[in-house]
Amino acid sequence: MSELIDLHTHSYHSDGVLAPAALVELAAKRKVSVLALTDHDTSVGCAEAAAACAQHGIGFVPGIEFTAGWRGQEIHIVGLGINTEHAAVQARCTELLTLRRARIAAIGELLSRERALGGQNIATDLLQQPGVPTRLHLARELLKRGLARDQQDAFDRWLGRKRPGHVPQQWPGIEGAIEAIVAAGGIAVLAHAHRYKFSNGVLGELCAAFKAAGGGGIEVSLPGTSPNDTARLLRQARLQGLAGSVGSDFHQPGFAWRPVGRFAKLPEDIAPVLAQLRPQ
Ligand code: AMP
Ligand code: MN
Ligand code: MN
Ligand code: MN
Repeated sequence: MSELIDLHTHSYHSDGVLAPAALVELAAKRKVSVLALTDHDTSVGCAEAAAACAQHGIGFVPGIEFTAGWRGQEIHIVGLGINTEHAAVQARCTELLTLRRARIAAIGELLSRERALGGQNIATDLLQQPGVPTRLHLARELLKRGLARDQQDAFDRWLGRKRPGHVPQQWPGIEGAIEAIVAAGGIAVLAHAHRYKFSNGVLGELCAAFKAAGGGGIEVSLPGTSPNDTARLLRQARLQGLAGSVGSDFHQPGFAWRPVGRFAKLPEDIAPVLAQLRPQ
């Protein structure tokens, strides 16, 4: 029987909808044997997830997904096997939370001027909640108010580039994110690189910079990667000597293409990032 390994998931501490324990419950149902919780810019859910995994006999990997910038483009870096209490990780989370809160407030303000919103500020409630506020939360608010058909539509109509609620954001560089992950004893993994709008040449430069800064892995297998995407990612893994990681990028039940613990297998010639981790 092949093992189901999921090294990229979200809980309600960032833009997922499930509590960490509920996420683990679902992973157990899906027969996931090793699970990482990788919330955007926070690792506060890891203690609860670790306890739930212990109950279900699932190997747990404490993780995070850091938002970072490279050549003006947003890049996501997953940290796996981190000491979540490490000061460098905590400092990075604090910095990112401040940037995120300011951005969400600015988006709420911009959208409140739109006629369709009738002066309502959809960020106000969100900014009073604990957790990392994201544009996905705002997309859900727009959905609730009947102002978008689905999450994609909310981005297409309101939140995306050139839309009324778009606030560009400069993120701190990838080097600092990698440094914090490595300092905390973890492995830095370049997340979903097929989604960045880069030519093969620029993707190669990103992967080289990522490796040079101490990066150890790259996600090569996620739901929704086309055979061509996977081939591009595998090529970079081989070229840079990066280990391969796999994950669902799960956010919520009902997204048929992103169920927790369901994705293609790693090819045999790629070193699995899991070999360098010791799940708890
Ligand atoms: P933020 O990190 O605040 O920019 O929020 C972005 C989050 O929204 C991502 O982590 C995704 O979960 C989600 N997201 C981004 N773009 C889209 C999109 N086009 N459709 C649906 N969800 C999206
Ligand atoms: Mn997300
Ligand atoms: Mn991401
Ligand atoms: Mn993610």
